[in-house]
Amino acid sequence: QWIYLNGDFVQKHEAKISVYDHGFLYGDGVFEGIRVYEGNVFRLQEHLDRLYNSAKSIMLSIPHTKEEMKNLVVQTLQKNQLHNAYIRLVISRGVGNLGLDPTSCGTPQVIIIAEELALFPKELYDSGLEIVTVATRRNRPDVLSPKVKSLNYLNNILVKIEASLAGVSEALMLNDQGYVAEGSADNVFIVKGNELFTPPGYVGALEGITRNAIIEIAKDLGYVVKEEPFTRHDVYVADEVFLTGTAAEVIAVVKVDGRVIGEGKPGKETKNLLEAFRKRVVLEGEK
Ligand code: PLP
Repeated sequence: QWIYLNGDFVQKHEAKISVYDHGFLYGDGVFEGIRVYEGNVFRLQEHLDRLYNSAKSIMLSIPHTKEEMKNLVVQTLQKNQLHNAYIRLVISRGVGNLGLDPTSCGTPQVIIIAEELALFPKELYDSGLEIVTVATRRNRPDVLSPKVKSLNYLNNILVKIEASLAGVSEALMLNDQGYVAEGSADNVFIVKGNELFTPPGYVGALEGITRNAIIEIAKDLGYVVKEEPFTRHDVYVADEVFLTGTAAEVIAVVKVDGRVIGEGKPGKETKNLLEAFRKRVVLEGEK
């Protein structure tokens, strides 16, 4: 497996960075997770726009244009001969001294990893996920915008730890006012009749590329989509609940904090949207 590392392709076991890199020392950097379906990178432009916006927000200047970055992503796929893959694009602040000040850092490091994807097992798509809500809160948008997909994922990791302590594989994070924000690395939707609700960005959700694709697809299919804050209660009494993300695509949630959602199995609308999403992915690749 070849990894792109600052201008070279190196083998996985040789892809190493300095312990003085501020991405390692402080989580100072940004990243993206991107899917490739049958050789087509899904919504690469949107991922790059989000990456460059995240970088701009934390005053990190990526040492490539978006066009160059696109080519590097494609080259990484070709080098690894992958047609269906998950790509991890990482830009870290670079190698500096032990101080926090990023001005000590040299050029930001650019890393591209492409791997075959390990999704949730198929059984989980058939049965749906059981999840919980956790004590970890999404950071406030006025502190560090949740729109910034930074390398500092401690909150999200704590969510995973709390989920696994509760014996489940995923969990929902609330914001500091108690509104539902998102999962550890997924957005959340609830369904009521033919209406879909998902938390707006200001509640503390990353504006997921999959989330945005589902909003578009749902509107095309005639659903009413509302980006509105909601609470745990609304989740408990929803007809259906599902999560969206690059790796998970669309996955049903059938139990939240012990409350059975709907009939306790993946609902009709969730299945419908997953099917439409998978079709859209193929269609966009053919364009
Ligand atoms: N929320 C967080 C915190 C994430 O890290 C991710 C994953 O990228 C998502 C939501 C889902 O976003 P996307 O659909 O772009 O993968």
